[in-house]
Amino acid sequence: AKESGKNNCQLYNSIMNEESLQQLVMENALRKALEREEFSIYYQPLVDTETGRISGFEALIRWEHPELGLLSPADFIPLAEATGLIGPISEWVLRKACTQNKAWQDAGFPPLQVSVNLSGCQLQEELVETVSGILAVTGLSPGYLQLEITEGNALQNINDCIERLNALKMLGVHIAIDDFGTGYSSLSYLKKFPIDTLKIDKSFVRDVTNDEYDAAIVSTIIGMARSLHLCVIAEGVETQAQLDFLRDQRCEAVQGYLFSRPLPVEECEKLLFKQMKR
Ligand code: C2E
Ligand code: CA
Ligand code: CA
Ligand code: CA
Repeated sequence: AKESGKNNCQLYNSIMNEESLQQLVMENALRKALEREEFSIYYQPLVDTETGRISGFEALIRWEHPELGLLSPADFIPLAEATGLIGPISEWVLRKACTQNKAWQDAGFPPLQVSVNLSGCQLQEELVETVSGILAVTGLSPGYLQLEITEGNALQNINDCIERLNALKMLGVHIAIDDFGTGYSSLSYLKKFPIDTLKIDKSFVRDVTNDEYDAAIVSTIIGMARSLHLCVIAEGVETQAQLDFLRDQRCEAVQGYLFSRPLPVEECEKLLFKQMKR
């Protein structure tokens, strides 16, 4: 028994070492990726359910890994969060998305809002200065930037978070709660946070047409948003039936594969052109 205990321990150590080695390799790669600008942003259109027109974009990061190809955020954002690299990465995303949005406006496209995701651990004091600095440098009006935060990770130091969100609000930036309904104490956040928008998580949207609980949850969120004068967006809309349901419920905007996947800049521009000709 003693013997096997030792073996288990060795096995455990070697797994741990392999894992931390892999982590170290990834961490270094991530750092280099930032230097070499291996990241890119894909933009997913948000569509107004009443007019069918694009009402904004969400910026979603991708990593064009030299060997592994296009990596999705799930593959590297958790590591970025754990290592603190999320700070510089997000700053890059913010700058890039604001620059792009301003460029689209300068090119004569109708002004639209761009949404940028923030990890909860990023609601630090510096964030407010970072955001105002980026807005100043890019010349984007604050109202055309929305920051998406998730309830789950904003939990620590709620009062600090509220203070920062208020400061961002004062700048004129919009605040959205992402993945609404999946975190903790959603309703108390609604009361405490200076929120403009609720984004209904795609896990509720998926079965909205064949699960009465999901249907009830989604229509309740939409109704609540309306009563509180918040904008409401449903994410993960893949079928016409889901869209019909959401439109019936007067959900303002939708986002999902039904209309478009996240797209590289040039593809977005094609969509915007097409829309201008309508
Ligand atoms: P999210 O903010 O909830 O973003 C929506 C995710 O749903 C995106 O995945 C998008 O591609 C995907 N999606 C869009 N439409 C549909 C649909 O109709 N069906 C389904 N099944 N999925 C759809 P993506 O791009 O892989 O991003 C995953 C998550 O990574 C995001 O979830 C967000 O939490 C995080 N993320 C992305 N970019 C950033 C970033 O720049 N910074 C930070 N901190 N997190 C980011
Ligand atoms: Ca989001
Ligand atoms: Ca989301
Ligand atoms: Ca999510």
